[in-house]
Amino acid sequence: MVLPVYMDNHATTPCDPQVLEAMLPYFSDRYGNASSKGHYFGWQAAEAVNIAREQLAGALQADPREIVFTSGSTEAINLALRGCFEMFSAKGRHLIAVTTEHRAVLDTCTHLEKLGAEISYLPVLPDGLIELEQLKSLLRSDTILICVMVANNETGVIQPIQSIGALAKERGIYFFTDATQALGKIPINVEKDGIDLLACSAHKIYGPKGVGALYIRKKNPRVRISAQQDGGGQERGFRSGTLNVPGIVGFGKAAWLASQEMEKHMPSIGRLRDRLEKGLMKYPGVQINGNPIQRLATVTNLSFGEVVGKQLLENLIKEVAISSGSACSSASTEPSHVLKAMGLSDEAAYQSIRFSLGKFNTPEEVDYVIEKVGKTFKSAKEFKPV
Ligand SMILES: *Cc1c(COP(=O)(O)O)cnc(C)c1O
Repeated sequence: MVLPVYMDNHATTPCDPQVLEAMLPYFSDRYGNASSKGHYFGWQAAEAVNIAREQLAGALQADPREIVFTSGSTEAINLALRGCFEMFSAKGRHLIAVTTEHRAVLDTCTHLEKLGAEISYLPVLPDGLIELEQLKSLLRSDTILICVMVANNETGVIQPIQSIGALAKERGIYFFTDATQALGKIPINVEKDGIDLLACSAHKIYGPKGVGALYIRKKNPRVRISAQQDGGGQERGFRSGTLNVPGIVGFGKAAWLASQEMEKHMPSIGRLRDRLEKGLMKYPGVQINGNPIQRLATVTNLSFGEVVGKQLLENLIKEVAISSGSACSSASTEPSHVLKAMGLSDEAAYQSIRFSLGKFNTPEEVDYVIEKVGKTFKSAKEFKPV
């Protein structure tokens, strides 16, 4: 076993060796610009991008022409929300977003508010799930977009997106979903789920960093959004700029691999997660944050109560790469907005830790973490002045 143990797979995943291998030629001899229509180097690059586009579309049950490659989920989210608002602000200025969305969504919403958008923030129940009836009650005649993520990055809680998609369709409102965490972990079908716009990212599915995509529905309805970047007109004009060919090739391969491996890997990662959770729940005051059933197999978000709190994290973080109840917005030491939206106090949020597992974690690592946390509990008790 190699230390430190990596249990922060919701922050990013290592690049799968098969993905890296697929990418390498596009850094060296296959260096063409996918937009160069006049020669072999360009065709070679364009062909590789086409294949990647088909692979990603396949993972979403989408048409390849509905995929727009971006620099990651953050850009895809910005493009979807800003692009939709810019296109429809004359018709309606109302958007709905869930309070537990990723910062990329919430901060884009704040930006749109400055541009005159009205955002209704849909609260969640203490288990992190939204209520469909509450969503319905927020709908207005000028609502242009409903924004609900498939699965939460901090808790793994999975929202009822099929019902949301159906509701959006019924009311003629676009449904945008951030599927960054869900892709490769649970089946996604843009048709069945009634998704109009979807953001995803390569580095969360064992692909490279710096590449993602926005799915933009082409029919029933044909989704219209404004481009947010002008230039050479790549990606059907939605995202100008020379394509990141090696990154896109890696994303395609990673999406294909994830679809192939999902049925095999998710149950085994789930067993590891359950083993970890069971081991940690034996310690006093440990509780699960978020619905324990309606969630991804890859994560457990645990509240550690007052016995250990921040000290646990500080001791643990040296040997186990994990994420605290505040670490999600990088430099910020604010308590997690997700846990707070679920009703946790600042203190309880600070005393929470996210363990997120991936296909490269082992039972030995899980047992090591359980033991390590146990030692922290012991020392916390010894040193805590009661
Ligand atoms: C990681 C993550 C993002 C941001 O993705 P990038 O590709 O790193 O920009 C957005 N939403 C969720 C749910 C995430 O987990």
